[in-house]
Amino acid sequence: MEISLEADMTDKVIVITGGTGVLCAAIVEMLAVKGGKIGVIDINEEALNKMQEAYKNRGLKVLGVHASVLDKNSLEKAKDIIHEKLGNVDILINGAGGNHSKGTTSSEYLYIKDIDTEDIVTFYDLDKEGIEFVFNLNFLGTLLPSQVFTKDMLRKEGCCVINISSMNAFTPLTKIPAYSAAKSAVSNLTQWMAVHFSKVGIRVNAIAPGFFLTAQNHKLLINEDGSFTERAEKIISNTPMERFGKTEELLGSIQFLINEKASGFITGVVLPIDGGFSAYSGV
Ligand code: NAD
Repeated sequence: MEISLEADMTDKVIVITGGTGVLCAAIVEMLAVKGGKIGVIDINEEALNKMQEAYKNRGLKVLGVHASVLDKNSLEKAKDIIHEKLGNVDILINGAGGNHSKGTTSSEYLYIKDIDTEDIVTFYDLDKEGIEFVFNLNFLGTLLPSQVFTKDMLRKEGCCVINISSMNAFTPLTKIPAYSAAKSAVSNLTQWMAVHFSKVGIRVNAIAPGFFLTAQNHKLLINEDGSFTERAEKIISNTPMERFGKTEELLGSIQFLINEKASGFITGVVLPIDGGFSAYSGV
């Protein structure tokens, strides 16, 4: 019996959306170093150009393609470019996602005194457009690229889709009802797609990152003197491993889920990478 946990990416064409973002950029690097041909889709043109140039200088195959996960036409055009420059797609990683301040409440709980108080966003003040933005980006932004890129995978072997859900999909986090529900929808869609694509050999799984300390959330979690903010303290005390995740700790899960030899019978799972956060009841 031969078991290999190292995924062979050589000449695999891998599309990753939101690929210039904090977490996905690390995934791009890992896949490119392992020999994959990576098509990075993002709306941040400047970051795409920078990324493509940096990889070109290292002799690695990373192609930046400007497109929005919410615009099917732009995704079809991106696919044409990827076909021409890299070939038919084997793997899709739906990485684009995020929250919006207008889908976020100021407080964890509703208090009578806060209702109709200026500067405090309660449940009643949540903005329809903010909520739509979050649902569109996370849910539709996973569904539309899957429609466009899984067509390449239909008559091939070893193809898969990896979605990015979140810890808040299992139990919603306070203050961010739209993001929590939208990621819950991403987890649900992952299971739906896993079943739907089971007869055509495309596995569909998701990872659910917990709390990762990134440049973006640094201010929310770390005070100027280097100590943890109140929210960070709360996260750590609810994480049995008592620390934040490191970006590189996502990479093994991506390799594992891509690797047909290691995870060929796994489809429809949402894999928590969270130091035990989702397993802990708080007591
Ligand atoms: P990020 O904000 O750093 O990156 C998101 C990327 O998506 C950006 O490059 C942005 O330009 C791109 N993007 C936004 N709208 C787009 C669109 N319409 N079309 C194409 N690209 C678009 O995010 P991140 O922290 O690296 O997170 C990556 C994924 O992981 C997201 O789905 C996020 O929700 C999820 N996630 C992140 C964390 C975390 O701790 N950072 C935790 C759980 C889940």
